Amino acid sequence: MSQGLRLVLFGPPGAGKGTQAQLLKDWLKVPHISSGDLFRHHLRQGTPLGLEAKGYMNKGELVPDSVTIDIVLDKVLSISDDEGFILDGFPRNPHQANELEKALVGNSRNVDKVVHIHVSQPELLRRLGGRLVCRGCQAPSSLGEGEDIGSKKCSQCGGELYQREDDNPEAVKRRIEIYREETEPVLGFYRERGVLVDIPGDNTVDEVNKQVISAIAP
Ligand code: ADP
Ligand code: ZN
Repeated sequence: MSQGLRLVLFGPPGAGKGTQAQLLKDWLKVPHISSGDLFRHHLRQGTPLGLEAKGYMNKGELVPDSVTIDIVLDKVLSISDDEGFILDGFPRNPHQANELEKALVGNSRNVDKVVHIHVSQPELLRRLGGRLVCRGCQAPSSLGEGEDIGSKKCSQCGGELYQREDDNPEAVKRRIEIYREETEPVLGFYRERGVLVDIPGDNTVDEVNKQVISAIAP
């Protein structure tokens, strides 16, 4: 491949986008851009943008487009044309999808593939309730039967794990609602462009990974 793949990982919170992105970025050798990680980075640094985003994030609401679009597109456009990317968490509404297309097409071409990982509602709730994230590398993981957060470390880098503030039951419920109302309509946008692939995401991480890989293989 002379030009790197431009991939969007799409799906509800808890679908496994972050987990799949971690696996794919080593295989595809393209950078991973996660809008949620960008916001959490600003939050940790205590930037004005981080402080603004925090209120929305902790309630499970979308951060306003006026903030989000600039910071994500800045990052996307900082990557050279032939490098490709894995974008996760963006676009989350039709306006963001339009703005991404304008920015990319102005430069060269739109995204190549949008992989939609769909997962049933009970499974999403189960996963988000037990989800942990690494402070070091941001990789997600989960607590197994009988494990406790104090003794478990990140399997990627050995870093400390924590539970995200927005993985509390109220915010989880709101994030799923917003996904249904605002984010799902973006599927139509990409279906029309012929780049959408649907993948069942209830299976194991490895099983889903195999399906993602076969969906994006040339
Ligand atoms: P998840 O997919 O598990 O809900 P993310 O890490 O992708 O979590 O996002 C966490 C939060 O960051 C979202 O609930 C939202 O508040 C904010 N956020 C991330 N991406 C966007 C986006 N594209 N538009 C608006 N807000 C966003
Ligand atoms: Zn880690």
